[in-house]
Amino acid sequence: MEGEGAVATAEGSKAVDLLQRLLRINTVNPPGNEQPAQELLADTLTDAGFECELLAAEEGRPNLVARLKGESPGPTLCLLGHVDTVPAEPSEWSFDPWAGDVVDGEIRGRGAQDMKDQVAAEVGAAATLGREGWRPPSGELLVVATADEEMGAAAGAQWLCREHPDRVRCNYVLNEGGGVAFEFDGRRFYTLCVGEKGVFRFLVRTHGRAGHASTPALGDNALLKLAPLLERLRSQPPVAKTAEAIEFASALCRQDIAANPDALDDAVAQLRATAPEVVAYLVDPMLGVTLVPTRARASEKDNVIPSMAETLVDCRVPPGMEEPEVRAQAEAILGYDGYSLEFVEHVVGNRSPSHSRLRDLVEEWLGNNDPGAILVPIVMAGFSDSHWFRRAFDAATVYGFCPQREFSLLEAAPLVHSADERAAVSDIEFAARFYRDTIQRVLE
Ligand SMILES: [Zn+2]
Repeated sequence: MEGEGAVATAEGSKAVDLLQRLLRINTVNPPGNEQPAQELLADTLTDAGFECELLAAEEGRPNLVARLKGESPGPTLCLLGHVDTVPAEPSEWSFDPWAGDVVDGEIRGRGAQDMKDQVAAEVGAAATLGREGWRPPSGELLVVATADEEMGAAAGAQWLCREHPDRVRCNYVLNEGGGVAFEFDGRRFYTLCVGEKGVFRFLVRTHGRAGHASTPALGDNALLKLAPLLERLRSQPPVAKTAEAIEFASALCRQDIAANPDALDDAVAQLRATAPEVVAYLVDPMLGVTLVPTRARASEKDNVIPSMAETLVDCRVPPGMEEPEVRAQAEAILGYDGYSLEFVEHVVGNRSPSHSRLRDLVEEWLGNNDPGAILVPIVMAGFSDSHWFRRAFDAATVYGFCPQREFSLLEAAPLVHSADERAAVSDIEFAARFYRDTIQRVLE
């Protein structure tokens, strides 16, 4: 089913068909069960001339590495995506989460936004080129579909980059995390995800002396010492003037904030007043460290004064920031004594340069396919397979980009990991065209 007047391209039709078939394969992780989805993609790409390998860390959960060799040496472009999804509770949906049907120009099912849509567009484009007999004039094209992204990638990209780096070594990666359009002040912007934040979860503990709850003067209640610390976490560390936040705000506010970084605070305040959702989704995560208490625990018994109380703080930090600086920022909020602080997770975030040949080609494509639209860099608050590729291949430029405009940011973002996930057919076709054109430009 096509939008009115749209002419289906070969890669667009292929992508839509693949997406419907992928959505009908349940790859909810846990347990994942990615095998049938990977076999569908491997068959499609093998028929188109790719060499395909299924590499599995866990039985029934392979990763697909598909390669189309070129005619002379050159860069390797990797189109990356994951085929697992988060769970879906059918009673919360208005249609079957594994329907894969098309209704009113929308393809429906778990994974239609995250991220079987992009995988289908990437494979649809790559397979169409291969079937037409196209081969890279220089370099090579890799299509990598991973398992286990939604549960940390221990059987997916993390394992693949660690155990089989030579199979997935590349210069350029296009993955999830960017490309969804939004309108602001009469112009359309597309996001380019250039980095992911780090995760430094920590426990804050207070100590006291146990005692019977009927005689409070005989104990020293650790929970009461935790309360003021929790209260302090209403404050957040100061705004960090990251390069991405400065470039993003400069583009939206039509001013050169890089020349005067002090103007960032005013620009963000202005954006917050006029486009609060854009700020909440895209700008806030780029503005530095966030500290959010998510759990707390103290006495295990109703009638015992707790000798220890603790809260877990979910802490996200800009790319590159390491533990000593995170600790310093946390202490500036919590104070310096009366508690202990223990990190339970340390993942240093990473980023790619926000200017590169790959970005130039994405901008060129947008100029031809959505004239006047503007590309802006973002750093994602969450985490994706891009992290593992950046970590394994220092020199690689790794971006999240899959263009989408029929469903804009404010329509699409609430569907991710939620009920009634779906995508516009026209967006799948738009994305397939992007991958087809960009494959040819990068490897020309
Ligand atoms: Zn995803």
